[in-house]
Amino acid sequence: MKTDSRIYIAGHRGMVGSAILRRLQRDGYKNLLARSRDELDLRRQADVEEFFDDEQPEYVFLAAAKVGGIHANNTYKADFILDNLQIQTNVITAAYQSGVKKLLFLGSSCIYPKIAPQPITEESLLTGSLEPTNEPYAIAKIAGLKACQFLREQYGVDFISMMPTNLYGPNDNFDLKTSHVLPALIRKFHDAKVQGARHVEVWGTGSPRREFLHVDDCADAGIFLMENYSGGETINVGWGEDISIRKLAELIQEIIGFEGEIIFNRDYPDGTPRKLLDTSRINQLGWRPKISLRDGITSAYSWFKEQRQLA
Ligand code: GDP
Repeated sequence: MKTDSRIYIAGHRGMVGSAILRRLQRDGYKNLLARSRDELDLRRQADVEEFFDDEQPEYVFLAAAKVGGIHANNTYKADFILDNLQIQTNVITAAYQSGVKKLLFLGSSCIYPKIAPQPITEESLLTGSLEPTNEPYAIAKIAGLKACQFLREQYGVDFISMMPTNLYGPNDNFDLKTSHVLPALIRKFHDAKVQGARHVEVWGTGSPRREFLHVDDCADAGIFLMENYSGGETINVGWGEDISIRKLAELIQEIIGFEGEIIFNRDYPDGTPRKLLDTSRINQLGWRPKISLRDGITSAYSWFKEQRQLA
C-alpha cells in the first residue's frame, strides 16, 4: 500500500474498523474511503456494486460485520447468519469484480470447533462441531474465509483472511445485553463503584478461559498482513495467553477500584470452555502484539469514562 493508494475500510465505525482507520490516518495514508451504514447498507448488493464502481478502491479492509457477545449471538441467530453472509458476500464479490488489488477479511476465533486442542491452530478449522451459542456468526465467517481462499485458487486474486481472538478497546460495545465480557465487566464494575453497590454479578461459573487482544494490536496485525502475507490459509491473531473469567473479573475490579464482592450467576451459559489461539504462524511472519492486558484495560477504562462524560 502506498500513502496515496485508495483504501476502503468497510465497517469504519466499528471497533476494529475504527482502529484500522486511526492507524492508517496516523501513518499518513491520504485516500481513505469509508461509508457509514446510513450512506451505504452493505447488505444491499446493488448499492455495494455501485460504490465499488464509483470509487474503485485498490485495497479493502473488510471489518464490517454484525457482532455481539454470547447473549446477542444466541438470541438473534437469524440476523447474525444472514446479515454477515450478505455483508461479506457483497463486499468480496464487488471487490473481485472491480479488480481490487488486495482484500483482508476479518473473522473471529469462534470459527474453530468448540472442543479443539489448545492452543488452536489454523488447521483445526472444520474438524469438529461449533460452539452452539455462536454458530450462526461462525458459519458466516467460515463462508467468508473460504470465499477468499477459493477466489484466490480459482481466479488468482490476492484476498487474505485473519482470525483475531476476543478484542477490546475504544468503540467497544458497552451495552450489557449485547456486549462481550470485557467491556461488560468494565461497565458493571464502574457502575457498581459509582453507585456504591455491594456486589457485581458475573455470568456463568467464572471458569471458562478467554484470550484478549487490544484492538490497536489487531489493527497493527491487519496492516502487517496486508503488507507481508499473500496466502490462502487464514492467519490467527492473538495475544498468546488466556485468562479465566474469574481472574479477568478480579483484574478489572482492581483496575477500577471496586471494593465489593463478585457473584457468579450460573443461570447464564459459560459458552466454550477455552479459546486460546495458536499464533505461531503470524509470529513466524514477524509480528507480535505489544499492549498488555493490564495496560489495555486501563486505557479502555479511560476511554469508557471519557465517553460517559461526553454523553
Ligand atoms: P464468547 O467468548 O463468545 O463466549 O462471548 P462473551 O465475551 O460474551 O462471554 C465470554 C464468557 O464470559 C462467557 O463464559 C460468559 O458467560 C462470561 N461472562 C461473565 N460475565 C459476563 C457479562 O457480563 N457479559 C458477557 N457477555 N459475558 C459474561
